[in-house]
Amino acid sequence: MSDALEVLNPATGETVATVPAATRDDVDAAVTRAAAAQRTWAAAAPADRARLLRRFAAAVDAHNEELARLEVLEAGHTIGNARWEAANVRDLLDYAAGGVERLTGRQIPVPGGIDVTFLEPLGVIGVIAPWNFPMPIAAWGLAPALAAGNAVILKPAEATPLTALRLAELALEAGLPEHLLQVLPGRGDTAGDALVGHPGIAKIVFTGSTRTGRQIMAKCADRVKPVTLELGGKSPNIVFADADLEAAAAAAPMSFLDNTGQDCCARTRILVQRTVHDRFLDLLAPLVEGVAVGDPADEKTQMGPLISQAQLDRVRSYVTDDLTAVRGTAPDGPGFWYPPTLVTGADPTAPVAVEEVFGPVAVVLPFDDEDDAVRLANATEYGLSGSLWTRDVGRALRVSRAVAAGNLSVNSHSSVRYWTPFGGYKQSGLGRELGPDALTAFTETKNVFISTEA
Ligand code: NAD
Repeated sequence: MSDALEVLNPATGETVATVPAATRDDVDAAVTRAAAAQRTWAAAAPADRARLLRRFAAAVDAHNEELARLEVLEAGHTIGNARWEAANVRDLLDYAAGGVERLTGRQIPVPGGIDVTFLEPLGVIGVIAPWNFPMPIAAWGLAPALAAGNAVILKPAEATPLTALRLAELALEAGLPEHLLQVLPGRGDTAGDALVGHPGIAKIVFTGSTRTGRQIMAKCADRVKPVTLELGGKSPNIVFADADLEAAAAAAPMSFLDNTGQDCCARTRILVQRTVHDRFLDLLAPLVEGVAVGDPADEKTQMGPLISQAQLDRVRSYVTDDLTAVRGTAPDGPGFWYPPTLVTGADPTAPVAVEEVFGPVAVVLPFDDEDDAVRLANATEYGLSGSLWTRDVGRALRVSRAVAAGNLSVNSHSSVRYWTPFGGYKQSGLGRELGPDALTAFTETKNVFISTEA
């Protein structure tokens, strides 16, 4: 019997779908089909490719509610977040479509002739996505890759194949050529591994855990295959004594509880200047306790379940009995529920303070001065995001430059915007996605010199 993926509703634990898992042979066949589709696509007029991508965006927009409901069902996202995620796919496609006709090379002054560069598509791109933001993260890869003239094979995470499959149907309905965007649900160690090792895949775009990212990078090295890695995080939220403490406290809960903390940019280390530590905690604790946790399909819900029993067990293992914690509420019964949790007084080197929990748990740690804040913020193998709260503009800039992370935010918790580059320092990743250069990451630069002396 062929292998199948069981898709569970995280809010109830019930099976909602069973999806065939792609084999290595399926990957082979998909790559052959994609290579043929890519050649036709790359040869099409840029204006036509842009038009088709805008139609794809419009189809996603027209099915926003359907896609959002699927995301609630398979990933347990709150309905408000899920609608935003489907809209984000639309925006990513529109933004990438705008780049198709602007993907220009350069003319470089040289003696004896003229010199021009061309940005040529790579070929077939493998996008390997995680379960935590199935739709947006798939689109970070597929939208610019298609816009730059490539074909895409997307392998969604085992737990969340449904929205990806629907997006591929919408692409076809919108008129994108057959086989240009293929979705292959499957297991990481078979379908994922086959994509990474396949000679017909020109680049891998991976988002997921640092452990898997390392394996993928090593395997890509065998073929000198380019790879983009978006990996884990343990991002700081630094609150200085001169900040608007009420505003900082009001923003802190959802900076680590959004998506039930299953967010690579979650601000899970709340670093507070010692002189205001207790006051800040007094402001923050009731807000964490008051977060509405429950049915993700309910419009009023702020936080839903974790994705799986395995994730629930992992989160529980970090919040050991010896730790002091402020806890919110969570439903009992079936489904994978864990309450919002704020750990105080922990050793800054404890696992909960340095490892990525990927659940609704943050630690609050005091610091003494600016240097101490930067030292603590950088005391991690990760470097994805971070926030700082201060009214001092000079300090905001100094600390933003000193924290070794790819995405810093002052007096807010913004990290991911499709207009701006996104990616990690250190073990949070390699390369950048999104932003004005997103399409270039899916091209080779070819240099051509034409002699004028022949
Ligand atoms: P994961 O690494 O277990 O899986 C991610 C994807 O890789 C899945 O599709 C999986 O099937 C596939 N995979 C697993 N083993 C593979 C292999 N050997 N070869 C090829 N593919 C393989 O990660 P996860 O648990 O699904 O996702 C959570 C992680 O993702 C967290 O660590 C989180 O921080 C990270 N993440 C990072 C970003 C970012 O942009 N930096 C964004 C979201 C999530």
